[in-house]
Amino acid sequence: LYYMPEKIKRNNIQIIGMNLSELEDLSEKFDQSRFRGRQLFNSVYKQKINDFDNMKTLPTSFRDILLEKYVLHPLSLVKKTGSDLESTEKYLFQLSTGEKIESVLMYEDKRVTLCVSTQVGCAVDCKFCATAKMGFSKNLTAGEIIDQYLIISNSINKRITNIVFMGMGEPFLNYKQVINAAKLFNNRSGINLSSQRITISTVGIIPKIKQYSEEGHKYKLAISLNSNHQSQRVQIMPISKIHSINDLIKSVWYYHKKSKRLATFEYVLMENVNDSSSDAERLINLIGDLPCKINLIPYNEIDGPFKRPSDERIKRFVKAIKNTNFIVTVRWSKGTDINSGCGQLAILES
Ligand code: SAH
Repeated sequence: LYYMPEKIKRNNIQIIGMNLSELEDLSEKFDQSRFRGRQLFNSVYKQKINDFDNMKTLPTSFRDILLEKYVLHPLSLVKKTGSDLESTEKYLFQLSTGEKIESVLMYEDKRVTLCVSTQVGCAVDCKFCATAKMGFSKNLTAGEIIDQYLIISNSINKRITNIVFMGMGEPFLNYKQVINAAKLFNNRSGINLSSQRITISTVGIIPKIKQYSEEGHKYKLAISLNSNHQSQRVQIMPISKIHSINDLIKSVWYYHKKSKRLATFEYVLMENVNDSSSDAERLINLIGDLPCKINLIPYNEIDGPFKRPSDERIKRFVKAIKNTNFIVTVRWSKGTDINSGCGQLAILES
């Protein structure tokens, strides 16, 4: 247990997750100047100081108030597991209310990518995903999302260069907290990660894709498409009953027109489900001339009926898409030996 912090004051308000103006208001409330709020912001997000006592820019009197009335970290780190196969680590965290979540850290050349969870469990029920088997417990706060980054940052020697909102949960069903967290990752006077190094992935909650487009956010947007026609998508992703595949494509057109950016379609390749040559053709037709990227993800097996296609079938599918104008990448998931590949995160014991 690395940060079993501050004697578990469960009822105290958590500082991590607050933005600059909230911290300035907080300072004022205790008769401090608003500038103390900025110093607190700086200590938390830029210097990433782990406890109030070490925030030496703050006067002792203010630190004492913080110690008494607040906690810094919403999370505590329970366990870190390393992969033998790849440079991947899985982190298990506990919320102050007891629930557990996981994050995955991947090292690849100069890139260090952190995959954060946005909910405890998930309500979406995709038939091929392990997280679905947990059911849904609750939304994470922006602080609980950000703290996955802050604690891991402090326990490694390298700098995290990229954030993907692709852990447990559906980010667009926790829209407000996810956007607040993304803003904190991006804030120049804090963590300061470029918006182009932050990716939010969604199953396709259409009103939220519209809202996201209208609000003009610059973070990268990824859509888990995974199928090339409605009747099949309904079977493997029942959410398509509400958010149909055609409306989904239209909403991504809308995003493109508003943002002038390319969304990425994620497409998990499952043997004899969506990996044939005619599937590739249907996928190409479905997307049409919508400017986008396609990210193919060979399936990571979990308990259940779905299988990863043979390398040969994967290659054939990739080739069929590569012959078109689409920008195609293949994501070989990392850390499948520690169940930290895409769709393998689940906490089923407890
Ligand atoms: N709920 C969001 C964020 C999770 S991202 C979303 O679905 O986009 C996780 C990605 O892994 C999604 O693209 C999902 O389709 C994919 N995935 C789920 N189960 C998988 C599995 N067993 N193997 C490979 N990819 C999987």
